[in-house]
Amino acid sequence: MSEANKTEITAQNKCEFCINSKCCTYVTQKIDTPRSKLDFEHLLWQVSHLNVEIYQDSDGWFILFQSKCAHLLADRKCAVYDRRPYICEDYSNDYCEYDSPAEESFKLHFKTYDELRTYCLKRFKRWVK
Ligand code: SF4
Ligand code: SF4
Repeated sequence: MSEANKTEITAQNKCEFCINSKCCTYVTQKIDTPRSKLDFEHLLWQVSHLNVEIYQDSDGWFILFQSKCAHLLADRKCAVYDRRPYICEDYSNDYCEYDSPAEESFKLHFKTYDELRTYCLKRFKRWVK
């Protein structure tokens, strides 16, 4: 039985059980809804880079950088906890990615150039390349 199964998980101790400290390992940025081939060509360039992904959820389109925060320590604590950015301070773990991966709410998710290009070929009747 894992430690997590023996101990009641509360908002106070949940982060200690979150092995990958999921919410400290990526950055997202909302982007304009892509509509034209040119827009998607731009996304194809972005998603071609390692650890860059594109997704759409109910809030719109986002670029996602899978990149661990430099302040995340080996013991999963935050090296700048007392002066952490507001977005970190404001993030509640009441119901977070430990409970439900964010990916579950994605309508579209492209992790590679090939995945996005396949989508482009379906979306646009004529895709020149
Ligand atoms: S807030 Fe949630 S996702 Fe982030 S480290 Fe804590 S348990 Fe993990
Ligand atoms: S500053 Fe601290 S809380 Fe914020 S993402 Fe980095 S490690 Fe996590």
